Amino acid sequence: MFASLEGRSVIVTGASKGIGRGIALRFARAGCKVLVVSRKLAEAETVVAEITAAGGIAQACVADVSKQAEAEAMAAAAVAAFGGIDILCANAGIFPAAKLGAMTEADFDLVIGTNLKGNFLSVSACLPAMKAAGKGRIILTSSITGPITGYPGWSHYGASKAGQLGFMRTAAIELAPWHITVNAVMPGNIFTEGLHDMGPEYIQKMAASVPMRRLGSVEDIANAALFFASDEAAYITGQGMVIDGGQILPESLAALEEMDPR
Ligand code: NAP
Repeated sequence: MFASLEGRSVIVTGASKGIGRGIALRFARAGCKVLVVSRKLAEAETVVAEITAAGGIAQACVADVSKQAEAEAMAAAAVAAFGGIDILCANAGIFPAAKLGAMTEADFDLVIGTNLKGNFLSVSACLPAMKAAGKGRIILTSSITGPITGYPGWSHYGASKAGQLGFMRTAAIELAPWHITVNAVMPGNIFTEGLHDMGPEYIQKMAASVPMRRLGSVEDIANAALFFASDEAAYITGQGMVIDGGQILPESLAALEEMDPR
């Protein structure tokens, strides 16, 4: 049904684990050449090994997306390795919690610097290659937290995730003349390695607040990113897609209780 993405060059930031790793594996399975980006070489290389063992093409790249020179080196590495940049999945993000009153200026700057400025720097670094090609796909990983919902301890995180969507809308307009689309996936609670440590009780509690009664998988997010990257999504730009199993829908706890078949 969908045209093949075989041979496309993809940068995935924050690809050493979690959602980014899922996106990297999914695009590799679709035949793309994947630059696996994180701040730690060994972790990025583990994902590269997974991809190549499955017959895919990937290369590791160490870059801190909050630093302009490193974001530029990342884009240069993709061009050197794969001959261009067709798709950027700007996924790297952090979510340390701190409530207002305890949150420091440094806490705020770190989260905004990584999640929001990191998007700006990653996109800016990839633009010369995409503009030269006259096409491109940019997929940001935002969240439901910030654009739609809130969570105690995450005012800085929520601001960064909502900010990504503001950035996206103007970027989409500016880049349309080059046929570069800019869209965002907005995950709900996704089952990543980090969640394992929270214990089964916490996971069960989170799943109970989702109408689908399960947390999302990294593949759920990767599939949406793949759609935004497809030729069939050429006319979609500046849009966020919520992938959350209906998590944002219940207007109260009663709505969730009421839906249970008895
Ligand atoms: P994760 O498992 O903690 O992975 C984060 C990834 O980002 C790692 O590969 C990490 O690698 C990389 N990273 C962090 N800071 C970086 C930086 N400055 N430069 C380059 N790479 C950096 O997180 P996740 O849960 O998969 O989240 C990924 C994205 O999804 C984030 O943007 C997050 O806000 C969003 N999201 C997640 C959920 C969820 O339920 N998990 C829900 C909504 C949105 P290194 O440490 O090696 O650099």
